[in-house]
Amino acid sequence: MNILLTNDDGILAPGLWALFEALTELGSVTVVAPGTEQSGVGHAITYREGIRAERVLLNGQIEGYSITGTPADCVKFGLLALLDKPQDLVVSGINVGMNLGHNIFYSGTVAAALEGAMNGVLSVAFSTSAGNADRLDWAADHAVRTLKRILGGPRPCARAFNVNIPALNGQQPEIRFTRHRATRFNVWREAEEEVAREDCEPMASKEEQLLECDAYDVNAIEAGMISVTPLRADLTDTDSLRRLMPSEAPADVRTDGSGR
Ligand code: MN
Repeated sequence: MNILLTNDDGILAPGLWALFEALTELGSVTVVAPGTEQSGVGHAITYREGIRAERVLLNGQIEGYSITGTPADCVKFGLLALLDKPQDLVVSGINVGMNLGHNIFYSGTVAAALEGAMNGVLSVAFSTSAGNADRLDWAADHAVRTLKRILGGPRPCARAFNVNIPALNGQQPEIRFTRHRATRFNVWREAEEEVAREDCEPMASKEEQLLECDAYDVNAIEAGMISVTPLRADLTDTDSLRRLMPSEAPADVRTDGSGR
């Protein structure tokens, strides 16, 4: 299996290399990552200027590509121009800091996975609690365990997954498939531990709020589980579409927003 590995913390970030080490058991891993930190750039791409790729030797032996652009650039450019072999999987991370709620729209880590999916490649973004910053090798082992679960499960329509790994204490956290909970946070840059607390304002529909608590990413994390959310690039609000155009909405549009 050919794996393109990127991140938004830059090519020298420890989270990238912890994941690199852990991923080598699954296949041939090529690092294509931004030369500088790109956290919070969202799905930005470079289009007015050229993108430069520099082949670099990392950790004394591993070749990788340092890119002048954003995480989405790394994936788009990597898949479409730079790498001569087709890639079977795009992996982004491990980001130090969770990507939940509205933050996934700002996240370069998640955008890289969406970019992979938009190019037809199964893509998984990994983020972890800042509390794991000194044990990223643990987080990477759990990332690979989660990846095997995704790869070994029924093939879903989704090609992008957002995985968050909670603070680890040596125990084996349960892996939970979740919904993205569209929440905003009252503070600009909240402490990692506060992400899942009650200062989140629910923006979900009434129907969604009736779901079990840990059906959502933020709540699964709060319960100490690994959250795995399948994502789609289609942002259509299918509930509203049905109400606005009941006779014209496609027959397969369901009120649960799955579109299937
Ligand atoms: Mn980051």
